[in-house]
Amino acid sequence: MIEIFETNSPKETDALGRKLGEAATPGQVFTLIGDLGVGKTVFTQGFATGLHIDEAICSPTFTIVQVYDTGRLPFYHFDVYRIGDVEEMDEIGYEDYVYGDGVSLIEWANLIEDILPEHYTQITIEKDLEKGFDYRRITVEQI
Ligand code: ADP
Ligand code: MG
Repeated sequence: MIEIFETNSPKETDALGRKLGEAATPGQVFTLIGDLGVGKTVFTQGFATGLHIDEAICSPTFTIVQVYDTGRLPFYHFDVYRIGDVEEMDEIGYEDYVYGDGVSLIEWANLIEDILPEHYTQITIEKDLEKGFDYRRITVEQI
């Protein structure tokens, strides 16, 4: 199933993230794909709010994963942008998170495609400058 959403402000992207975070269930995995500056962090902040996490989300670029335990479910926020090879994912306990009872969201998941679970929700954020500077197309697909 594919759903396409369109937003025209950071606030709208945050609200979409919040809606998906509110609906997230234990063990669910989300992947988040999109160029730098497209709105991945804006979306993730909303998503965390939807999980009732009150903290600000920081990008885990250097730590690969950041764990938030204060929401209604554990939240595992991955950023695999700097991953060298997939063995590094073993070292941080990737499978324990992804096959655990929390909710995982993996930025730049295309870089670890080979080790993604069989089913996940793929979120792609794209700009379209013809539709305006703040326009984003957000595609949500069940894999
Ligand atoms: P990323 O994490 O993908 O690198 P950020 O979320 O940090 O990107 O930044 C997105 C930038 O784009 C922010 O400066 C935000 O204000 C701006 N922006 C403009 N329009 C939108 C929109 N519709 N959705 C999300 N962000 C938007
Ligand atoms: Mg970011």
